Amino acid sequence: MSAKSKKDVTILAKQEFKAESKRLLDLMINSIYTHQEIFLREIISNASDAEDKLAYLALTDQNVGMSREDFAITILRDPKYRILTVSDNGIGMSREEMEENLGTICKSGSLHFKETMEKQEDIDIIGQFGVGFYSAFMVADTVTVISKKYGEEQAWMWQSSGADGYTIEPAERETAGTDVIMKLKADTEDEKYGEFLEEYRLRELIRKYSDYIRYPIRMSCEKSRKKEDSPEDKPEYETYTEVETLNSMVPIWQRSKKDVTEEEYNAFYREKFFDYEKPVATIHMSTEGTVTYKALLYVPGKAPYDFYTKDFKKGLQLYSSGVMIMENCEDLLPEHFRFVRGVVDSQDLSLNISREMLQHNRQLTLIARNLEKKIKAELLSLQENDREKYEKFYAAFGRQLKYGTVSEYGAHKDACQDLLLFWSQKEGKLVSFKEYVAAMTEGQEKIYFATGENKDRLAKLPQVETLAKRGYDVLLFTEDVDEFIPQTLMTYSEKTFCNVTTEDLGLDSEEEKKQTEEKTETLKDVLTFVKEALGEKVKEVRLSSNLGSHPVCLVPDSGMSFEMEKYMKRANPEFAYTAGRILEVNAEHPAFAALNAAVESDSEKAKDYAELLYAQALLMAELPLEDPVAYADLVCKLMK
Ligand code: ADP
Repeated sequence: MSAKSKKDVTILAKQEFKAESKRLLDLMINSIYTHQEIFLREIISNASDAEDKLAYLALTDQNVGMSREDFAITILRDPKYRILTVSDNGIGMSREEMEENLGTICKSGSLHFKETMEKQEDIDIIGQFGVGFYSAFMVADTVTVISKKYGEEQAWMWQSSGADGYTIEPAERETAGTDVIMKLKADTEDEKYGEFLEEYRLRELIRKYSDYIRYPIRMSCEKSRKKEDSPEDKPEYETYTEVETLNSMVPIWQRSKKDVTEEEYNAFYREKFFDYEKPVATIHMSTEGTVTYKALLYVPGKAPYDFYTKDFKKGLQLYSSGVMIMENCEDLLPEHFRFVRGVVDSQDLSLNISREMLQHNRQLTLIARNLEKKIKAELLSLQENDREKYEKFYAAFGRQLKYGTVSEYGAHKDACQDLLLFWSQKEGKLVSFKEYVAAMTEGQEKIYFATGENKDRLAKLPQVETLAKRGYDVLLFTEDVDEFIPQTLMTYSEKTFCNVTTEDLGLDSEEEKKQTEEKTETLKDVLTFVKEALGEKVKEVRLSSNLGSHPVCLVPDSGMSFEMEKYMKRANPEFAYTAGRILEVNAEHPAFAALNAAVESDSEKAKDYAELLYAQALLMAELPLEDPVAYADLVCKLMK
């Protein structure tokens, strides 16, 4: 006895909310937000999730002894005491789970909400989020949760009147499930919380926000009927109550496309996937045939904060005939489309299929293949028909598509390559490979690209200028992964790729090549001098006719490009290998004439010139100078 009462005392001691939860709670309590009505949607959505969990368990565990039809959510109004209760017969919560789930906020929706809140401090976003359980405090002074976890003996009661803390104590509840009991705030001049106890208002809210919830939401409603014994010509009426189901229970993806409004699609997305921005594309499909399924997919307009980390969980929610069997079915989405959110529902999948079996399921593989095709088609159509939206999408997920293109040695290139966009030097905007090739001018054989960190600087590369003079476009690659794309694709539309800084541009005619050879022969002494002056620093010194107005340029020896070298160094500072440096010189440039003259008259000066030109070439290639101080001294020395 004494042991038990001691235990009760510790349990009853008021517990503090975790700091960040407290802040969010404060916000909810003091919210002047006008759409407080969304609290009901949140509480009902939690109830539905809890029923999903027990319904799923019931499939594999005979002991649950419940079938789908047994699950329901009940709403109870008590206007006299201003109490609104939402009850479910779902999975329930243990004491620890209450502590964990209702004492802390680090749950999906709420956390996301909190982060955005901190950034924008905009009260108006409340209604756009899945703000979760705490939203009850927008309308209630005191919230009491009585819950019994399925399979446990003891029920528990969690109670809180706001930010100062909560208590948890043992309670009574017959069966598994949860009651959320909200004592509504007193009405004020501006706020009539009492309306949330009125039948018509609750009916309206459920229709508006929770219509598709798959379990019946029941409420006892007042009706009137003619008194049986009253005469027909002078009827008298009496009121009675009857339990009514207030939602239509048809999930949005089960409805016909033409009956769903854009607003409904967006609202479902917002609530289910915790994104307050509208999706850039919505795909609603209903397929019959080898495998029958319905899918509702969304392409988000921005990347979740953890998208490019390993914390991000890809996958679609998988339902079998209306019962959720998996929260995140990864196998339904290829890696390159991992940003897609949504739901797939198929009656062809056995309900009690295990996760491991699912991976090798033929129907699932078929669905996944169809979805991939459909997503690609949808994105291509967006690219063609609504470029602005597509570019917004691309800004968020373009990198993922690039990774998809190069991953597994290009195994997914067909799905990805046409979705890529790169900056076009000529057009001054993003273009696809298809658009690039279509715009190629007479005589252009290759797809030219330049890689570097910054597109303005790339645009000034001598090779880019040379190509521009001929009217050829150059794609400017500025992301690490870009350079791997031509290597993976090899060709696009039978055109080969040409890295303008490392490869022969293929512009010279046989005649021109011959001229360069002859010139090299005449200028052999100067070229040899420069090579000797620079020693091991360069592999070769040669003439180039592609340098336009520039005196020199550094190109890498075959193998590794400079961008790749920089990338490897960033990834691993210990990386010791460097790309071989070849110094190309422009014999038509006045600087070359000066060098030539110095070689003949003053070999000390000529050596300085060689060093100077080499340093210039390094700078233009955005490569570090080996000795910046020596370079500065050298410039000053030559100025004297
Ligand atoms: P979210 O729903 O975004 O996870 P909430 O704040 O709404 O966040 O709820 C927190 C957690 O509390 C839920 O994830 C769930 O585990 C638990 N919970 C809330 N309501 C119920 C309920 N009616 N039955 C069982 N568990 C619940």
